[in-house]
Amino acid sequence: MYRLLVNDSAEKPILAIKSDGGPDHRLTYLSVKVSLIALFVALDLTCLIAIRTAPHQSYRNPVERCMSTLNLGLQFISLMRDKLDEKSEQLLSKANSMSDIRKCAEQNPGMQEKILQSTKPCVDLLNEVFQRLEYTERPVKTYDAVSKADIECLWEKALLIDPNQLQMTHMKKYKDLQTFIEVHCRERNYTFSIKKCVENPCGFCLAHPPTLPESVFSSVYWLPDPVPGSEGHYKSFSDLYGTVTSEEHRPSLNTTKAKKDIRKRKKSSKVGSIFFFFGDGGEGCKLSAY
Ligand SMILES: [Zn+2]
Repeated sequence: MYRLLVNDSAEKPILAIKSDGGPDHRLTYLSVKVSLIALFVALDLTCLIAIRTAPHQSYRNPVERCMSTLNLGLQFISLMRDKLDEKSEQLLSKANSMSDIRKCAEQNPGMQEKILQSTKPCVDLLNEVFQRLEYTERPVKTYDAVSKADIECLWEKALLIDPNQLQMTHMKKYKDLQTFIEVHCRERNYTFSIKKCVENPCGFCLAHPPTLPESVFSSVYWLPDPVPGSEGHYKSFSDLYGTVTSEEHRPSLNTTKAKKDIRKRKKSSKVGSIFFFFGDGGEGCKLSAY
C-alpha cells in the first residue's frame, strides 16, 4: 500500500482505509496500530482514518464486495504449485500453517526462494485472470507482493516515533510510542485515527508539519461515533462532525453489556433461553447504522 500511495500523499494528505475484520486488520491489535502509524509517518500524512466493517455488514464494504467479481474470474480454475526437490517437500510437509512455513523458511537457507519460485505459476495465472476483470466498470489492477526491502523501509519510518529498537513482541515497553498514540491517535473498536497535533505541536509534528493549509487543517476533526437521534435512527454525520462523542452508543458494546447482565441474572435466577433476543438479525440491524 505504501508503494501505491507514496506518489499521491503530497497532494492527498488525508487517507481513509476500509478493511475487513481479519486479524491482519483488527484495529484493536497493537501490531496493526503500529503498522498504520508507520504508514502515517512514511507517507507524511496529516490524517489517517482506518475503518473496519462492523460484523454482518460486509455488504457495505468495497473490499468484500469486489471479492464476488474476483470469484467470477476464479471459476473453473485449479491451482497447484510446482513440486520442490524431495528434501524440501519433506520439510514443507511438516508445516501446517503459514507460521510453520515461515519458520521452515527461516531455518533452511534458500527455502524461501524455492517456495516463491514454486508458487510463481499460480501467481502469474491469477494476475492474468484478474487483470481481465472489471469492477464497477473499472479494470482490476494487480500488484506484486511487498518486498522485504519495502517492509524494512516502512519499519525504519516507525523508528522515527521511537528511536529504540522496536520489536513487535515488546512494544508495550516503549514509552515514546505510547505517548505518540495518546497524543495523536483516537482508538475505537471499529476505527483507528491518527492526526497531527493541532495546538502546541510536539517535536515530531514540528519537524513534520501538516501539509494542509492551516485554515483547512483546523477544520479536520476526529471521525464521530454513532449517537442515537430521533425515531430510532442515528444522528447524521454532518450533525456530529466536530462534536465530542464517545463509544457509549456502539451497538455491539451495548449488546455485550446486556449479554453480561443476562449471564449474571441467568446464574442467579436460572432464567431460560433469553439469549434468543440477541440473535444475528437484531444485532445486524442495529450495527447497520454504524
Ligand atoms: Zn504531534
